[in-house]
Amino acid sequence: MANSGNGEGRPALRQAIHVGIIGGGQLGRMLGLAGIPLGIRFRILEPKENAPASAIGEHIRGDYDDPEALDRFAEGLDAVTYEFENVPVESARRLAGQVPVFPPPAALEMAQDRLVEKETFESIGIETAPWRQVDSREDLARALEVLGTPAILKTRRFGYDGKGQERIDDGPSADAAWERLGGVPLILEGFVDFHRELSGIAVRDRSGQIRHYPLAENLHRDGILRESRAPAPGILPERAREARTKVERLLEYLDYVGVVAVEFFETADGLIANEMAPRVHNSGHWSQDGGGVSQFENHIRAILGLPLGDPAPNGWAGMVNLIGGFPRRREALGVSGARLHLYDKSPRPGRKIGHINVRRGSLEELEKGMAQISELAHDAGEG
Ligand code: AMP
Repeated sequence: MANSGNGEGRPALRQAIHVGIIGGGQLGRMLGLAGIPLGIRFRILEPKENAPASAIGEHIRGDYDDPEALDRFAEGLDAVTYEFENVPVESARRLAGQVPVFPPPAALEMAQDRLVEKETFESIGIETAPWRQVDSREDLARALEVLGTPAILKTRRFGYDGKGQERIDDGPSADAAWERLGGVPLILEGFVDFHRELSGIAVRDRSGQIRHYPLAENLHRDGILRESRAPAPGILPERAREARTKVERLLEYLDYVGVVAVEFFETADGLIANEMAPRVHNSGHWSQDGGGVSQFENHIRAILGLPLGDPAPNGWAGMVNLIGGFPRRREALGVSGARLHLYDKSPRPGRKIGHINVRRGSLEELEKGMAQISELAHDAGEG
């Protein structure tokens, strides 16, 4: 008799959908936590043992560019997604020959190279900081003549959390920046005089429907996101419209499916796009507890062709990252409206190990909650 599902192994879930996630970090973990209640089973591809996402399903241990591991990973999946943007494009393309891969590999390719990203933004009318390609010390000197100082020298690829970039204020700092970064493809960006950083997160489904999360206001320190608030306090309706229009243009240009995040600088004259992430984003974590459908659940819904949910928060939502250390759990949970999210990572200086969300009925109340949780986060981390 056929196995009725009561024997060894995991019984076949009726209607189970199988999603593969490339990458085993906290974003994969939270995608899984959002998809499991929908009856979805997850498989992750991740070379490291005991990754944060190991907890959410089957873990295939293998390198992201190992064809044998990729084939094992893909078998029987209904869709594949990824949770970090440095997934080898070749691997995404190989998988796309076997199973739908969303967001499309072309989005991944664009997001991996700041130069291609900026060219794409410009070609579809999304304004960026002025920039020049830099492949030699002479290129850098010429670029500085055109763009002036301050300016920021950035690696085209593999930069994150402020790594792979150096601010240049004068001749000696140009030498120092070149010393540190030279040898790989770079770009120099003119310094944008912004008053705050915002992110536009949106989701597009397989039929082209788009839903927008409200713009979030983001605070960084030492290049790492510390806090987000949504909706961005005091945002002008025309700024919010501008962001939506730009994000929509990008989604349509890429025939995108899934959640995207575009980071903007807000200036007196409008929004300047800094970069995009073809995935769920740290500045959207508030949505887990904001009262609408979270970025994680909507990403899963989008890639599977399921109807999207309403992303709007109920009231005001905020998030504080836990960096470098754990807060006292009892105190964190004692803050009214606060929800604790830990990633099962061991603390190291500068490492994100979790976050706390808070939601309140008014901005004034949100600020009180944010002050309480950022103090806990501050005490826990390296400050
Ligand atoms: P990124 O790695 O591009 O996200 O940059 C990290 C942080 O550096 C940003 O969040 C900004 O605070 C700052 N930054 C990056 N590019 C510029 C720029 N062109 N002008 C001013 N600040 C910048």
